[in-house]
Amino acid sequence: MKKHNFSAGPCILPQEVLKKASEAVINFNNLDLSLIEISHRSADFVAVMEHAKELVLELLDLKDKGYSALFLQGGASLEFLMVPYNLLPVDGKAAYIDTGTWSSKAIKEAKLLGNIEVIASSKESNFNYIPKDYTVPSDATYVHCTSNNTIFGTQMKNFPKTDKLLVCDMSSDIFSRKLDFSQFDLIYAGAQKNMGPAGTTLVVVKDEILGKSGRQIPSMLDYQVHISKDSMFNTPPVFPVYVSMLTLEWLQSLGGLEAIQKINEDKANLLYQEIDSNPLFQGVANTEDRSNMNVTFTLTDESKKEKFDKLWKAAGISGINGHRSVGGYRASMYNAMPIESVQVLVDMMKAL
Ligand SMILES: *Cc1c(COP(=O)(O)O)cnc(C)c1O
Repeated sequence: MKKHNFSAGPCILPQEVLKKASEAVINFNNLDLSLIEISHRSADFVAVMEHAKELVLELLDLKDKGYSALFLQGGASLEFLMVPYNLLPVDGKAAYIDTGTWSSKAIKEAKLLGNIEVIASSKESNFNYIPKDYTVPSDATYVHCTSNNTIFGTQMKNFPKTDKLLVCDMSSDIFSRKLDFSQFDLIYAGAQKNMGPAGTTLVVVKDEILGKSGRQIPSMLDYQVHISKDSMFNTPPVFPVYVSMLTLEWLQSLGGLEAIQKINEDKANLLYQEIDSNPLFQGVANTEDRSNMNVTFTLTDESKKEKFDKLWKAAGISGINGHRSVGGYRASMYNAMPIESVQVLVDMMKAL
């Protein structure tokens, strides 16, 4: 029987997507060739890339609104550098909100390129909340935020209201809820949290903001180069792009972001209700900032750990050990996680 996979990333994907993807590895589109042994310039693969990009813009409701979708490589971690390369003027400034390990890494890379002001941080309390009180300096070109903090289990419910460009790392909650995505000028996300296998990074960028940094940008780091080549400036990661396309098709057939948001809320409510009502457990994140994707919690009585670990392992649960910087447990419940698996976890918490 398949395990209940609560892994934080790479993570669970829909079973039907895995089945279709495995078939395409052997015989893609009845070509009697594998998806991963045909030219990325063949009509069959170009159609995959085009459809994947189209689905991204449709699901985010950004079609015909001046945005481009890109499937790049290097992970969200390379975007930490690409964003300032493309957006930060040589003598300019950018504002960053520091809400966790990934934000901190984004700040570190951006500092290589210019003047970075950290306008708010929750570091002093091990990132267990989202700071909401900050001022964006008038000379900043963009504000960078992280919508969901995968490690600490916090999630932004509201985003900075600013007349500056708004950039967001959505690696771990992209396509999980309905937002007004047109409030963002650039969104990026590594595929492996909610979209597909590791190996491709989604970037959605408003075209008009590019080409203004005054920098000489290496080709592979230049969004305009990738846009002009339809994400095929070099050989794209065909398998991750294909699987991402399948996941997005699955999401669309479910009813899109409104439908998945409801499912994700139901899962999160089920688990948080147990954490809040069971005296043996305690949530880590500030209640109003809790993530619907990554739920962090600890035992109130460490002597129960051995018993609890035995219980959930025997129930076929996998991947709920907390990150080393937080401890305790982390249950990641991305789009493809069925509520039945969350119920199994809750049953084990009740059984403790
Ligand atoms: C996982 C993660 C990253 C890093 O992604 P890579 O694709 O491994 O570089 C960045 N930001 C967030 C919010 C993440 O969850």
